[in-house]
Amino acid sequence: MKQKQKLLIATGNAGKIREIEHELDHAGILNDFQLLGLKDLPPPPHTPDCIEDRPSFVGNATKKARHFAAVGNCLTLADDSGLCADALNGAPGVYSARYAGLTGPREIVDQANNAKLLKELENTPDDQRQARFVCAAALALPTVDLVVIVDEVCGTLLRSPRGTNGFGYDPLFYLPQFHKTTAELSMQEKSQISHRGKALRRLIAWLRENRP
Ligand code: IMP
Repeated sequence: MKQKQKLLIATGNAGKIREIEHELDHAGILNDFQLLGLKDLPPPPHTPDCIEDRPSFVGNATKKARHFAAVGNCLTLADDSGLCADALNGAPGVYSARYAGLTGPREIVDQANNAKLLKELENTPDDQRQARFVCAAALALPTVDLVVIVDEVCGTLLRSPRGTNGFGYDPLFYLPQFHKTTAELSMQEKSQISHRGKALRRLIAWLRENRP
């Protein structure tokens, strides 16, 4: 029997792995691959960490994909995402995960990041609170970058949180067309319209057409 091609999903986030699995399945190519996660790579120091120090989502996603493709010696998919607020000239941007400077349990970090965002925007009027979630998804082989795709979803930032689904800035990110925040959407509803869902579907369409 032909061996399945390895596909490393370069994230430790179980939610992202499930989402990618779901999209590969939807595209009818899930069974073509043996999916690997970062936990399948040897522990440090054998697997060096990838420092996300690029000034753009594309830079970080490409760097991560290239880095882990070389470490795992196989086809690798990586993504980088964040929130860009117009009134803050695109901040928190690539610093979205560590905006308030905290590390630790996700709920605490998310709460601190949201509090900082609300503080920064407290004097911003309602009609100037537009923001975008942006996602760059990149695919690489050990010695070559294959493709990187960027997508986004536009919304506005509320003055207080609403909803309990999702993570990160979801409770503040309001979609006028749904009259809901992304934290009030189900995972399936969010994935249909989200920056990550759209970027992943386009990347997977590319992969289906251009199997390396
Ligand atoms: P990463 O791509 O997992 O590194 O995510 C970067 C950070 O951006 C997250 O920690 C969140 O703070 C924020 N972020 C990215 N995507 C989303 C989303 O779909 N909802 C809410 N916050 C997000």
